[in-house]
Amino acid sequence: MNRDAMSMSLRVGHGFDLHRLKRGGRLMLCGIVAAEDMSAVAHSDGDVAIHALVDAILGALGRDDIGRMFPDTDVRWKGASSSIFLERALCEVRRAGMRVVNADLTILARWPRIDPLRARMRDAIESLVGAPVNIKAGTNEGCDAVGRGAAIAAHAVVLLAKASGTRRRPAHANRR
Ligand code: MG
Repeated sequence: MNRDAMSMSLRVGHGFDLHRLKRGGRLMLCGIVAAEDMSAVAHSDGDVAIHALVDAILGALGRDDIGRMFPDTDVRWKGASSSIFLERALCEVRRAGMRVVNADLTILARWPRIDPLRARMRDAIESLVGAPVNIKAGTNEGCDAVGRGAAIAAHAVVLLAKASGTRRRPAHANRR
């Protein structure tokens, strides 16, 4: 990404993730246990919502995707809590002199039902991000692997802004 784009005061990013579901184990969504009779097939804890959000943040920063940052060939991330990935991405946001303005998540799943979990998920992820996070849900209406309940997916959009006090002074500001 060129320097002009990196110096913009607002940056947007989009992320998408999908995991197959299997019986048994615990399904993590937005950092909470969303179900205890199914789990995502994943190297880490398979939290699709957090993975999509991390990719959105990395996209807004013009960075590589989550798979490059936390490869599934690295034993350090085996069974890892996805909140670690989010904390690392948020650290990159701060290092870039930016902050998260808000995020919008859409979770696509036949099960578990998202609606009863929505408030707990929002509270959990907002406490990690430190900014408003909206959570929407869809079912894909039986059309594909997600719609049949064989997989779960999430889209995320995030907006970053320059953190106050870090705005660059224009080049002419120091001239007399
Ligand atoms: Mg993933």
